[in-house]
Amino acid sequence: MENKALIFGHKNPDTDSICSSMVHEILDRKNGYETKAVRLGKINKETQYVLDYLKLEAPELIEKVEEGQPVLLVDHNEFNQSVEGIEKAKILGVTDHHRIANFETAEPLYYNARPYGCTATILLEDFKKCNQTIEKKEAVLMLSAIISDTLLLKSPTTTEQDKKALEELAKIANIDVNQYGLKMLKAGTDLDDFSCEELINLDAKTLEKDGTKYIIAQVNTVSIEDVLKREEEIKKAIEKEISDKGLDLFVFAITDILNSNSEIIALGKKAGVINSAFGKELENDKAFLEGVVSRKKQLLPNIDKNI
Ligand code: MN
Ligand code: MN
Repeated sequence: MENKALIFGHKNPDTDSICSSMVHEILDRKNGYETKAVRLGKINKETQYVLDYLKLEAPELIEKVEEGQPVLLVDHNEFNQSVEGIEKAKILGVTDHHRIANFETAEPLYYNARPYGCTATILLEDFKKCNQTIEKKEAVLMLSAIISDTLLLKSPTTTEQDKKALEELAKIANIDVNQYGLKMLKAGTDLDDFSCEELINLDAKTLEKDGTKYIIAQVNTVSIEDVLKREEEIKKAIEKEISDKGLDLFVFAITDILNSNSEIIALGKKAGVINSAFGKELENDKAFLEGVVSRKKQLLPNIDKNI
């Protein structure tokens, strides 16, 4: 067992999960605590862009944790999105901006939740509370996470705090956020090397409600049409996932980050929920959802309510 507390975000880590783990470790060190950022999955291309920009190595990959392992969670709390063995780990703290569900601890903990658009926005406040200086490295990590989670402040999950944080971090990092942000987001939309199985798992969240098990997966793109060239193959991959995992529903959102819309593919015996959730009939298992870009604020709550 690792003595140091391990810090990690959710499975299928996104830029916020990786960058916030790293920033948490940096802040802990400044405060005199030895912790270690790790990750629960492959680095995506968007996050790789950030790491390359800063010439940093990715945190170490872990598969599971042992009983009693001290851990700190960022960017998630639900056990089904966390590491294998989380039920028996010692959760020291959580820094998160999601709903709280499927979460329970045996002991008291630090729980730092704010309804902001990004975990990194919470961490910026932590830096200030601890009176610690913010250097360029952590500034770029935090602003990258904010750009990613809020799609350059265009997502409806964006809060005033995120806007202020991004502005402040951009000054510290001396970076043109629009230019940097677009390059970073575009790096993440290069989907060509992924097989359809990989595509539907790149950013997939497993959810459960009253015994209904479902997944909402999302990919960002600058051309929905381009992704749909593989529509039939994608559907086959989804059908396989549904039968392998015994799912009732799989929603795959293809999100156009330039125009802020999503095309969704919904399969499974509960696919009819899309109609009640968004007032749109599925055509050929698909629906175009105008203005929908956020899983957390738009897709998930509407689907969850209607399941
Ligand atoms: Mn995340
Ligand atoms: Mn996040």
